[in-house]
Amino acid sequence: MNNILKFDREHLWHPYTSMTKPLPTYQVAEAHGVTIKLTDGRELIDGMSSWWAAIHGYNQPKLNEALNKQAGKMSHIMFGGLTHEPAVVLAKKLIELTPEPLTKVFLADSGSVSVEVAVKMALQYWTAQKRPEKKRLLALRNGYHGDTIGAMALCDPVNGMHHIFEDVLTKHLFTEAPQCPFDAEWNDRYFADAENIIRNNHASLAAVILEPIVQGAGGMRFYHPEYLRKMRQLCNELDILLIFDEIATGFGRSGKMFAAEHAGVAPDIMCLGKALTGGYMTLAATLTTEKVATAISNGEPGVFMHGPTFMGNPLACAVANANIELLLESPWEQRVSAIETQLRRELEPCRSLPQVSDVRVLGAIGVVETTSPVNMAKIQQFFVDRGVWIRPFGKLIYLMPPYIIKSAELTLLTQAIVDAITDDILTTIKN
Ligand SMILES: *Cc1c(COP(=O)(O)O)cnc(C)c1O
Repeated sequence: MNNILKFDREHLWHPYTSMTKPLPTYQVAEAHGVTIKLTDGRELIDGMSSWWAAIHGYNQPKLNEALNKQAGKMSHIMFGGLTHEPAVVLAKKLIELTPEPLTKVFLADSGSVSVEVAVKMALQYWTAQKRPEKKRLLALRNGYHGDTIGAMALCDPVNGMHHIFEDVLTKHLFTEAPQCPFDAEWNDRYFADAENIIRNNHASLAAVILEPIVQGAGGMRFYHPEYLRKMRQLCNELDILLIFDEIATGFGRSGKMFAAEHAGVAPDIMCLGKALTGGYMTLAATLTTEKVATAISNGEPGVFMHGPTFMGNPLACAVANANIELLLESPWEQRVSAIETQLRRELEPCRSLPQVSDVRVLGAIGVVETTSPVNMAKIQQFFVDRGVWIRPFGKLIYLMPPYIIKSAELTLLTQAIVDAITDDILTTIKN
């Protein structure tokens, strides 16, 4: 182990890691296109897009150029009392791309913060309406909305760490995870649990928050669009705000620009992040409607109470603008659809394996669910030895490659998954 890895192991936290029982970590030298180069010279095909983000791959010339150009003007300037073109151009693009009623944009610094902002918008909205009793949210089991205290209170109560932080987390309401798969036949009973809870609690509900169509880190599940239409109708009927967390699904990943387009419904508040800058910088956005923004601004205390130091960071906005232009200029729909077709074909053989409980694909997302948790250290090493970067969690081995991936590269990823599952040692021993 070299000095970098040794120091890293002793002093650096990684996402969800232990300082006393660290798992192997690999040192990256650089990354280009869909290839991650390790310092030991090995090259890995990227199956993760650095968690939904690097949709155009790494070291993209146009994104590099946007970043460099903006750095030559200013990398950052406070957003209090000052503004700049990159932020305005980005707001315009987001308003144009997202559903029509969303016209007011808050530029936050990470996905979790954009969720905090969404929750605060909902709470301030009802306070301004002189209905302060509306202060709870309804969230979905298997949902994931981020790691900060406020966002964590909206994550799945079982796999979302509620038991550790029970005393400090706001007690929100939860309904069962949507049970009807994306392309199964809809039946209204699939909405019964949500409807019951909402009808019984609507007077105290400020908002419903959910990840439309694709539940990401809470289980990698795909559910039926009718669920969203029912939820929109019920929220309208009972005067509840609807928040869509499209942080993972935004910018084409599910086959539509935003996953809610599968259902043709619009939220009152929408969170974006992850792919917003093509994986270059941390940036997120919370969009809302004229109605919500006006109510907040006209009520007590007359302003929206949030304003991070790095709000609207110009470097991040500039690269987000280049990222969105690049996406819109590219044949992204064909690319995502080709990835979908290939994932379906090449992951399907997993279904018949005894270690596998489900195989599901939507857009450029492919998931193989195993019957027991994978052995993380071993399966990670297996994938790296195979020249691919795939990072499973629990029982979920999944792919969400950059949209620019070539068919032969994608085959290397899917074949590595098939072989990993066939190798019993990797999928039947607990960590
Ligand atoms: C990743 C994610 C978040 C949190 O975003 P961070 O940038 O990690 O804070 C919130 N919601 C969803 C759906 C996500 O996938």
